[in-house]
Amino acid sequence: MSEIYNVGIIGGGVSGVVTALQLAENGIDSILFEQENSVVNGPPFCHLHAGGNLYPDISEAQCKILMKQSIEMAKLFPQSIDERPTFISVPKSEKYSLDNIEHRLEMLVAYYTELIAEDPSNAILGAPKNYYKIYAKEDLKALADHPAIERPKSADEWMINTIHLIDYNKLKTPVILVQEFGWNLFRLGAQAQLALSKTEKCTLKTNTNVTFIKDVSQKNVGYNWEIHTADKLYKVKYLVNSCGFKTGTFDESLHLNSERLIEFKAAYVSKWVPIPGLIPELIFHGERGTPHGMIQLTPYCDDYYQIHGMTNDITLFEHGLVQSKDNISQPEFNEGITQKLNSGWETDEIKSRTENAIDSVVKFIPSFQSAQVGGPPLFGAQQIPGNDPSLRVGEVSFPCKSYARSEIVKASSALTVANQIITKMQEEEIIPAILTALNTNTILDSILKTDIDVLASELAIERGYPEALSRLVIDKD
Ligand SMILES: Cc1cc2nc3c(=O)[nH]c(=O)nc-3n(C[C@H](O)[C@H](O)[C@H](O)COP(=O)(O)OP(=O)(O)OC[C@H]3O[C@@H](n4cnc5c(N)ncnc54)[C@H](O)[C@@H]3O)c2cc1C
Repeated sequence: MSEIYNVGIIGGGVSGVVTALQLAENGIDSILFEQENSVVNGPPFCHLHAGGNLYPDISEAQCKILMKQSIEMAKLFPQSIDERPTFISVPKSEKYSLDNIEHRLEMLVAYYTELIAEDPSNAILGAPKNYYKIYAKEDLKALADHPAIERPKSADEWMINTIHLIDYNKLKTPVILVQEFGWNLFRLGAQAQLALSKTEKCTLKTNTNVTFIKDVSQKNVGYNWEIHTADKLYKVKYLVNSCGFKTGTFDESLHLNSERLIEFKAAYVSKWVPIPGLIPELIFHGERGTPHGMIQLTPYCDDYYQIHGMTNDITLFEHGLVQSKDNISQPEFNEGITQKLNSGWETDEIKSRTENAIDSVVKFIPSFQSAQVGGPPLFGAQQIPGNDPSLRVGEVSFPCKSYARSEIVKASSALTVANQIITKMQEEEIIPAILTALNTNTILDSILKTDIDVLASELAIERGYPEALSRLVIDKD
């Protein structure tokens, strides 16, 4: 008789890999299917949302969850975290009130203090009193007189470099510097792939597309699901659907009605003349989907900068947000977007959209005019469970016995989802009771930085991006 696996996981994005690794850490075997040739190869991520400060409209409850989950993920994947701060500003033309933003930041400091009291190893964002710093117009004027600092260490030093570049007369004051860090997807993917190859508890099947699943739970055959690929059938007791924006495909084949949105988005890679010192990530808030949607400039090594612009001619796309319909759980994009997802982009569109992105930054940083296209866009589609496009914390649902459906909106929710699945498997007696849910992973901890450096660099090159995108601006020893 062929082998029966405890768990079959479809999709090797951040959610699938963290689930497989947490299962392995608890001694539970799984088989993980990923259609691409390496894991964490889906939609990109670059920002650790440790407080939700890129979203002035979300609830305080979501901000707290984002902070807690981000800290947990940063502890699992420390070599993927770029410890540079984020500059937050509101252009004078925008509606957002700085009082509300400041109030939320105070709440987050109190919450971060509680998290550290619960577990001192949560202090990965630095001391709570330094979580954010506010700069009034007079502070900015005073800092503007200081020379640039090549490798800033304090909040003021980061702000000095920023203020030399931006036209702060276009911004409301005060402006804010907050300890929300960068998050490198190539490094997270490399650490996860090395850990999965190391553990005997997970059979990793890359280049393997799951074509069909069959519920055999009523047949009393000692397993509940058959997972079919082009040439083989696999038997598993528990099924995890972590297919990202394709999650609805398998819901449909199981006749499970579920509501979801899927959204296609892109970020653009530019190269800028060397500037005298490192800068934080720069945020210029604006209303999403309007011509002045938020601009986000993310620094990478070797003078590469990634740009998001929350307008329809930069990051967002006409018909880029699609909703499931009655009895059809898997929404479908139009032909143009499907073509981008499956076959990549036309050179002309890479150029025109990257140039739109550069122009959007020039409004606030005049010298960014000299930036050029630096590589292909980072793009992909993500899922949002339900029908609220502003939801930022999606999790896991259990629509029927021995079936978990992961629908995270931010990469930071992956560990919470993995632990919820393990808890549910114990309740369903698929696995024996494990006393404590672990937020640590010794397999991930055993992966060496030097090995992550090598594989992350290979992954960036193999996927067509500049190698510099696989490195941290603030390298860790
Ligand atoms: C432009 C953009 C920027 C973003 N920025 C951030 C950010 O800064 N911070 C953040 O936290 N989040 C960010 N996100 C969201 C983040 O990318 C997603 O939350 C996250 O990648 C979702 O992970 P996942 O594992 O659920 O799904 P995915 O990463 O989509 O993984 C699903 C995997 O399943 C595989 N798969 C699908 N069907 C099959 C099949 N039939 N057989 C085998 N394999 C299959 C796919 O190949 C894929 O690898 C961003 C998203 C976009 C689009």
